Amino acid sequence: MSTSPLAHAHDMDAFRAALRDWFPRVIPANWRDTIRMQGESGYAQVQADWYRALADAGLATAHWPAGWGGADLPLAAQIVYYEEMIRADAPLLPLHQISLYHMPATLFAHGTAAQRARYLDGARLHGDIWCQGFSEPGAGSDLASLRTSAVRDDDHYVLNGQKTWSTNGAYARYCLLLARTDTQAPRKQAGISCFVVDLKETPGVTVRPIRQITGEADFAEIFFDDARIRCENLIGAENDGWQIAQSTLTSERGLLIFEHTERLAAAYWRDAKAGKDKWLRDPAHAREFACFFPRVRSVQLMARALLEELAKDPHGGFETATFLKLAWAPLLQEYTGFVARMGGLEAQQMREPLRCGGHTSGDAMTDCLASYGWTVAGGSNEIMRNIVAERILGLPKG
Ligand SMILES: Cc1cc2nc3c(=O)[nH]c(=O)nc-3n(C[C@H](O)[C@H](O)[C@H](O)COP(=O)(O)OP(=O)(O)OC[C@H]3O[C@@H](n4cnc5c(N)ncnc54)[C@H](O)[C@@H]3O)c2cc1C
Repeated sequence: MSTSPLAHAHDMDAFRAALRDWFPRVIPANWRDTIRMQGESGYAQVQADWYRALADAGLATAHWPAGWGGADLPLAAQIVYYEEMIRADAPLLPLHQISLYHMPATLFAHGTAAQRARYLDGARLHGDIWCQGFSEPGAGSDLASLRTSAVRDDDHYVLNGQKTWSTNGAYARYCLLLARTDTQAPRKQAGISCFVVDLKETPGVTVRPIRQITGEADFAEIFFDDARIRCENLIGAENDGWQIAQSTLTSERGLLIFEHTERLAAAYWRDAKAGKDKWLRDPAHAREFACFFPRVRSVQLMARALLEELAKDPHGGFETATFLKLAWAPLLQEYTGFVARMGGLEAQQMREPLRCGGHTSGDAMTDCLASYGWTVAGGSNEIMRNIVAERILGLPKG
């Protein structure tokens, strides 16, 4: 810890300088080559090494409260942290995203002391990987229709049903699960509870990776066949799962989208350099490229505005987050499509995906194909537009 940049976190200039010195020394060497050559096992290794480096310096959980192994790192310092990480060309940490953001946001607000001690320490000290089991084949946008059941049996709950699109599902030890505990509740939101499930140790749980068009298997389906979990795995009160899930989902709003918009901006300048003596010489292409600039800059500024709103009120930022999602996802699609087009045939070759290289990893074809998920993830853009119409503009329901 003595050499951790965190020692300088009280002074933003010193913190930035310390990070700038530290990152190049600890980023897993040749991480792109490791993933390209070893595929999924290389990816898991890079993630484990990168997590360990950040965790050993206290940086992986620096945004957590000090009482729980964090550093209460102020938002301004977290922004500097991400800026310098991107500048140093570090990999993303997607395998640990849910264990570092979604799970703690849920347990800090609703977990028991025992749950916090066990699961927060597991994530922080041992790098336990988590996934989120919310969506089902018949319950995505309409999440409250979920049908996976949890039936109380003495000091256990018995789980039956299926989850899908669980990011990290194939790698995860634990799943943050939403299941129905009351089928008679007057509102479907009212009969849902939130649980922790140990995917590796619970009999009756089957995890099947879903292979995507890019060749990656970021997601998994999870099947529960009379899977028994102890009652102490319930988070919060029975049937309070819908409210609890809001804490989980709110954690997606801030720094995670900030990192993505910053990486997009960095990619814009990288692509400008790469295209300088090639496609940018064509005035039509240059014009098209230039038209992306205000949009890239806008989402960057919106993400920063969102962070400022969240700094004032951790439950705020709803409107900005909604508009940001609506602006960012189509921009990502159009931009990665443009880059794939400019790269010609060479860019359109599929390669072993870089996985933690971000949504603008530079592998034009993979980036382009993967971008389509982001108009669906975190609430599809159609649903977001419904929200704008009904909750922001106050228009009547269609
Ligand atoms: C990258 C990514 C990561 C994800 N990670 C996770 C995860 O970790 N855990 C998890 O539980 N889930 C995850 N999901 C699933 C995600 O939450 C769902 O895909 C999303 O909620 C949409 O649900 P659906 O796929 O069932 O589509 P549906 O809800 O069936 O929607 C299909 C289409 O119909 C449209 N539509 C539906 N209802 C309306 C309406 N009322 N008005 C207008 N249009 C409508 C939608 O916009 C969409 O275009 C992830 C998805 C993606 C793409």
